[in-house]
Amino acid sequence: MADQPRASPPQLSDGRLFRGLSYIGGKWSAAADGATFSVLDPASGHTVGEVAQLSAEESHAAVDAAAAAFPAWSGSLPQDRSGVLRRWFELIGANREDLARIMVAEQGKPLSEARGEIDYAASFVEFYAEEAKRPNIEGVTSHLPDAEVEVWLEPIGPVALITPWNFPSAMLTRKAAAALAAGCTIVAHPSSQTPFSALALAELGERAGLPAGVFNVVTGRASTVVPPWTEDARVHALSFTGSTEVGHLLYRNSAKTMKKLVMELGGHAPVIVFKDADLDRAVEETIKAKFATSGQDCLGANRIYVERPIYSAFCARFTEAAKALTLGPGLDDCDLGPLMNEAAVAKQEDLVADALAKGANLACGGKRSPLGPLFYEATVLTDVPPDARIMHVEVFGPVAPIAPFDSEDEVIAKANDTPYGLVAYLHSQDPRRIYRVSRALQFGMVAVNRTKVTGAPIPFGGTKQSGLGREGARRGMEEFMEIKYVCRDWA
Ligand code: NAP
Repeated sequence: MADQPRASPPQLSDGRLFRGLSYIGGKWSAAADGATFSVLDPASGHTVGEVAQLSAEESHAAVDAAAAAFPAWSGSLPQDRSGVLRRWFELIGANREDLARIMVAEQGKPLSEARGEIDYAASFVEFYAEEAKRPNIEGVTSHLPDAEVEVWLEPIGPVALITPWNFPSAMLTRKAAAALAAGCTIVAHPSSQTPFSALALAELGERAGLPAGVFNVVTGRASTVVPPWTEDARVHALSFTGSTEVGHLLYRNSAKTMKKLVMELGGHAPVIVFKDADLDRAVEETIKAKFATSGQDCLGANRIYVERPIYSAFCARFTEAAKALTLGPGLDDCDLGPLMNEAAVAKQEDLVADALAKGANLACGGKRSPLGPLFYEATVLTDVPPDARIMHVEVFGPVAPIAPFDSEDEVIAKANDTPYGLVAYLHSQDPRRIYRVSRALQFGMVAVNRTKVTGAPIPFGGTKQSGLGREGARRGMEEFMEIKYVCRDWA
């Protein structure tokens, strides 16, 4: 008899946070035909739980709910919206441990990283609870005689949010808190690989007092449940975080209804280490930039360029640090967890094989771990030639390719030679060089001598194929608002 898939739901102190139904119009909804899909724990391969797989019609009903709730929510007092967001923030904090354990079960990341993501997710809700109260009006000195001119910012309407599996909580709150603060209502689709985190946030949103229909979460196949939103003119904006490929598709599909778009897409971050850098710090920060979330991070270091005089020393220290990283299931809280799925591991294997065939050296790792099929060792490749595929595609895994460079102009050209433009990392102690290179890098974000640069108050986002628009900060809320210009004459 074939083995039955084993069930291993997360152990929680509040089991009601573990919801397997969609949340539409304030009700927890199964698919009418009873369809469900399984969510797997990437560490063990066991089933975490079953989730409702909704139809296109049921997804359409979520837009009905968001449209019906829009007039009251957008017309509510800003301080009332702020109050609901504040309560949501407090509930996320109070349930931090359960939310982190749900994330570990479905995403696989180490428990301390999952706790960190819950804090990060909560920080957006707290920030936008405050931002909701700021006035949405600008007085403008009139260019017309006897006229008063004003610019109003108004909620754009119901919005669609689509989020990925690598940061299943923070990518949702970064969008949702901004949209709710602006006065918008939401239809959201979380990745089918990690829907439980979003559903737990919806449960807490309900407890915080989000009115029915304001925040709807629709689970199921993206290719079934998202088209009813892109085709529906009542959805005025779409905010997506995920791959550039799906971003292109959503861009095309949103054209007919002329939606406002926010796209947070892939990255291909260069790390540039100049010979005047603090070497210890550069190694330590680049280890973080490469291996956090097992490398499955749009901000992950994808290619590391080190100036030749310190190249050997950097490679030796970086390899030692990579070898010291521990690998294991998320609940063991090692440094690295499993990758998300078989395709992610196969990609690492292909990229490593290609680089080695083209002349790179394997300094450590380079294979799956005996811990399980989705565990891949921290891997360092040195002397990686420019034509290796890994120097051109998003790695999204724990493989670090390193190459030497000889001049500032050369490394800037290499760093910019990519269709992506999300983040670039730079290590140097020369202020003039830091300024010059920061200006020359064609990226939405530049991190100098450090890795962690994100947070609720900063505008996060990329250029070129890394996306459109910004999330976080005041700007992140304005992405969900429309500008109305009013010119008054007291005739
Ligand atoms: P993905 O495959 O593009 O999926 C992202 C979301 O899009 C999921 O909710 C997915 O739902 C949905 N989706 C997939 N196919 C769709 C379709 N045909 N129509 C509508 N929606 C569709 O990306 P991923 O693998 O989850 O995430 C990894 C990517 O996200 C990487 O490229 C990474 O760089 C990027 N990312 C970017 C940022 C940023 O802020 N710039 C942050 C995190 C991640 P299902 O899972 O249900 O298919």
